[in-house]
Amino acid sequence: MLWANASWFEEKQFDQTVGVAKHKEKHSLDSTVKYVYLSFDDGPLFGTSSCIDICEQENIKATFFQIGFHQSRSKWGRKLYQRILDQPNLFLLTNHSFSHTYGDYLKFYHQPDSALEDFKQAAQVLNTKNNIVRLPGNNGWSTASIHSTSKLVRPLVHKLDSAGFDVVGWDVEWRYTKSGRPIQSPERMAFIVDSMFQHNENRTKNHLIVLMHDHMFRKPEDSIKLVQFVQYLKYGNKYQFALLDQYPGLKNQGINNF
Ligand SMILES: [Zn+2]
Repeated sequence: MLWANASWFEEKQFDQTVGVAKHKEKHSLDSTVKYVYLSFDDGPLFGTSSCIDICEQENIKATFFQIGFHQSRSKWGRKLYQRILDQPNLFLLTNHSFSHTYGDYLKFYHQPDSALEDFKQAAQVLNTKNNIVRLPGNNGWSTASIHSTSKLVRPLVHKLDSAGFDVVGWDVEWRYTKSGRPIQSPERMAFIVDSMFQHNENRTKNHLIVLMHDHMFRKPEDSIKLVQFVQYLKYGNKYQFALLDQYPGLKNQGINNF
């Protein structure tokens, strides 16, 4: 699909300016607070409903990097997508491309023009209200303050950057097995989070982004691990959960106070 709507970006930016002004009153960042950003990738998929349910039950904020193709191929996918949009105080929906490369990472990144179109197509399908994107299978970054890319993805990241997107990766990943089940225990993940804050190993001091994948939590015996992880993080009120549009140094945001 060709990207034909030239006015799209101005409209998005206008929307966002209004959104940010509202946001600012509600969520001023505090430089003494430690922020955790939970992010779930690749939905809507099996597992997405567990992630939504758990975050609702625990009343914690989370960002969902969704795939346009997954959202648009079924009513079921659009329903999950809508559940996320229906709770703007708790959830943020962000762009994880339309195709997720269709499984051919090298081809995708070697054709940066069509890859950029793929992200724009996802922005249109998902109707995202922010300019945050995450690369498929790659921890590349390009915000106003962080630039970190491998050689493979650099041409695409430059194009995304010029088009006004913020490319946001992660600090720590809860990894999964070949059959899509969590590798580390929830205790281990909480320990890693504590330790990264303690040793200042995050990309941005006092801000830590956790990458997880929706499909890891599709089975009840695994979704309970997400509950446990969240409860460990909540224990003692050490951290504040935040949405990724609050992350400091995004190009198109004016919401951070330091
Ligand atoms: Zn992904």
